[in-house]
Amino acid sequence: MTDAVPIIRSLSQLRALTRAWRRAGERIAVVPTMGALHAGHMSLVTEAKARAERVIVTIFVNPKQFNSREDYEKYPRTEEADARLLAPYAVDAVFVPPEDEVYPPGFSTTISVTGLTGPLEGSFRPGHFDGMTTVVTKLLTMTSADRAMFGEKDWQQLQVVTRLARDLNLDCEIVPCPTIREEDGLALSSRNQRLSAAERAMAAALPRALFGAAVEILEGRAPDTVLETARAAILAAGFGSIDYLELRDAETFGPAHAGRPARLFVAAWAGPVRLIDNIAVG
Ligand code: AMP
Repeated sequence: MTDAVPIIRSLSQLRALTRAWRRAGERIAVVPTMGALHAGHMSLVTEAKARAERVIVTIFVNPKQFNSREDYEKYPRTEEADARLLAPYAVDAVFVPPEDEVYPPGFSTTISVTGLTGPLEGSFRPGHFDGMTTVVTKLLTMTSADRAMFGEKDWQQLQVVTRLARDLNLDCEIVPCPTIREEDGLALSSRNQRLSAAERAMAAALPRALFGAAVEILEGRAPDTVLETARAAILAAGFGSIDYLELRDAETFGPAHAGRPARLFVAAWAGPVRLIDNIAVG
């Protein structure tokens, strides 16, 4: 990393900073990330800067939230590029802890949210949410955050973290931030870096199918038929398989009901890369 960004690797160093900020009456906003930063992450940083005097970005590829060793190992790690991207934002700290700073030997605690973590991502990625909620709880407490930014791109994660903060009385406001997309509609994601040129070109079929289906459902067509057509379009574009494409209640993830906020959720495989996306219906 370059000298331009204040990289911090130890919790004791981080605590020295956050204690001083708190003594001065300054609020702290945190942006938890796994690195391989892009404009989606940067929109969270901008939001954080508007909401607190001090901003901490965390970069930690959390082994506990990956279901496969291969996905963990292949997850892009781009520290130098991340530092270059962050430099103009002048954040107050970039916390990049080594694994044993987060999970010291003998670490034996799991934070687990039930219910909301069952369907969609939960049913295809066993253990993922427990790993995520455990590390998020740790990152929010390690950074003494008053606010934490989470992207709507990972809508289910956002709802789970909101529930976690409420259930554990964390004194930290969870702030939702809108999904940032490429011009062709593909949601920005660190995993997009792993797409080949051909996979990247056809990946736009995913948001296209999602947006098209949302319009048709709003126009009153039967959701089951609309979703069947959208699945066929995604596969015809070149996706290898679809884990799910579902219309669900936006807060409970149960069946969508008239008069309640609903969303479309999708997860599909472009070659070896699993992409997820979601949008509001109505
Ligand atoms: P990640 O590094 O993928 O774990 O993401 C860190 C945070 O950035 C999460 O809260 C994500 O939801 C958010 N994020 C990732 N991609 C986007 C995007 N395209 N637009 C908005 N937020 C995003």
